Amino acid sequence: MAHLADDRALVLLSGGQDSTVCLGWALNRYAHVETIGFDYGQRHRVELACRQVIRERLAGGICGPGELGEDHLVQLDALGAISETAMTRDVAIATDETGLPTTFVPGRNLIFLSFAAALAYRRGCRHIVLGVCETDFSGYPDCRDDTIKAMQVALNLGMDARFVLQTPLMWQDKAATFALAEKIGGARFVDLVVEETHTCYLGDRSLRHPWGYGCGTCPACSLRAAGWARWQGETPAD
Ligand code: ZN
Repeated sequence: MAHLADDRALVLLSGGQDSTVCLGWALNRYAHVETIGFDYGQRHRVELACRQVIRERLAGGICGPGELGEDHLVQLDALGAISETAMTRDVAIATDETGLPTTFVPGRNLIFLSFAAALAYRRGCRHIVLGVCETDFSGYPDCRDDTIKAMQVALNLGMDARFVLQTPLMWQDKAATFALAEKIGGARFVDLVVEETHTCYLGDRSLRHPWGYGCGTCPACSLRAAGWARWQGETPAD
């Protein structure tokens, strides 16, 4: 069986709010933490640029004693090439006839997890951490708890390993995610999440809101803004 160390974790870091809070969570919990990201031709490539800034600011230990190890950026051009979605093409963000948002990239998290596990196997990381969330999941079926649990079984069987897929945000909404960030790293971590993480589907970083940068109107911005308002104890505008 694969040798995996209990104090080593691999975090799927996209550069968004959720994956950044997951990275802070992991640094608070494991001795050695590495990150993996995927370049699949996503439209909001600005997220990828955020990753390095986030890593630099988190290397200072604001979230805990964990050592921030290597970053691994995986090129997945093939995923973009086979996906006709609003994430990778100039398609309007809306809900299509299946009831799923047009931002849905079919099977994305299944593919990401397969690559992450292959890397975690080589790097000896027992824990694979990802920021999926069933509460605010926009209907993406590959963010569901059952999907992740099924993937854990499949990966462990297929690699003869004992990975643990950690999803600290699975049952948290965006307000709880801000609260978790504060609990882990105080105001400095909240400030990092607001300033440096990217959520907006349109890749807009020209407008600064109290909750961070973004167009302010796409579904991802709306979710983040509403979560911030709830966490601040404000009544949402609508
Ligand atoms: Zn937006």
